Amino acid sequence: MTYPIPDQLIRALHTAAKILCVSHVNADGDAYGSVLGMTHILTRIGKQVTAAMPDPVIPDFSFLPGADAIIKPDAVADDYDLIVCLDMSSADRMGAVFDPVRHDAIPLVVIDHHITNTNFGQVNWVEAGCAATSQMLVSLAGALGVELDQQIAQCLLTGIVTDTLCFRTSNTTPEVLEAAMHLQRSGVNLADTVRRTLNRAPFSTLPLWAAVLADARLQEGVVWVTVSQAQLRAAGHADDDSRLNSILASINEADTSAIFTEKITEQGERTVECSFRAKPGFAVGDLALRLGGGGHAPASGCTLAGALDEVVACVVPMMIEERRRQADAEQRA
Ligand code: 5GP
Ligand code: MN
Repeated sequence: MTYPIPDQLIRALHTAAKILCVSHVNADGDAYGSVLGMTHILTRIGKQVTAAMPDPVIPDFSFLPGADAIIKPDAVADDYDLIVCLDMSSADRMGAVFDPVRHDAIPLVVIDHHITNTNFGQVNWVEAGCAATSQMLVSLAGALGVELDQQIAQCLLTGIVTDTLCFRTSNTTPEVLEAAMHLQRSGVNLADTVRRTLNRAPFSTLPLWAAVLADARLQEGVVWVTVSQAQLRAAGHADDDSRLNSILASINEADTSAIFTEKITEQGERTVECSFRAKPGFAVGDLALRLGGGGHAPASGCTLAGALDEVVACVVPMMIEERRRQADAEQRA
């Protein structure tokens, strides 16, 4: 199935010659997949396209075609005709790629699937019913008359596979499977894509998970863990691992889950990255939005200032309250 694509979006893409494609900080597979997929699609229709990401490309996604050409914020020019913002709900998610002063006059086009999208572009195409931004680009390629080739398909299937945890999330509709089928028929290997994205982790992950999971907590249908900088350092990891989410989300006694990861900013400030998940019938999107973040009903997140224990003490009661309210509403229904 194709989704209604705003005429304005198609016009904006056709009119522009020099285009910047950008996705979000703390990028995931759909961020890389959609930004690179879009770059390939626009290149096929003769555009001069650059892909930029706020953070350095993480090695897990360096296999994607075009990943080596992604530029850093300091290499971003200021003479683009158009900036295409992919897989992000608000402009701040572009990090240092977007400079409000240098880029003030450049129109923004938003292509996204977050229900929390703020419609921050001049043109906004937001499909909250899509499981991945990469899924939307399958339709867009069709509308632009671009045939899905192996390069495009590899990028877009990676986005769909990672955002749906390999077709396991509650938003995996027949349309998602249809889009994936088109991509698979275009020459990309599904099993290989899963092996390169979801089914891989260095051995050092095991002691990290062991340490983190040993202190997992469960209260009133909410399960959570904390990941400290000390634990990450001891395991030799620079970052947390979103795969832990799948483990927490599978716990029978819990309806919602959270991973709280301690971060130290470049300025030395302590922040905590919160990653939320909800089982079907429950939602964590509103919670993240209230806390200044965003996401979807089944998966959302935010970053809060403060020490790990302070943030946990503040957020967990909110999660418990929210989950209780949703469980009551479910019972009454
Ligand atoms: P994850 O837990 O995998 O990092 O993120 C889950 C979902 O929440 C993703 O769709 C991601 O884009 C969104 N998300 C995570 N952190 C933030 C945040 O700080 N701000 C916003 N707006 N969205 C977030
Ligand atoms: Mn996404």
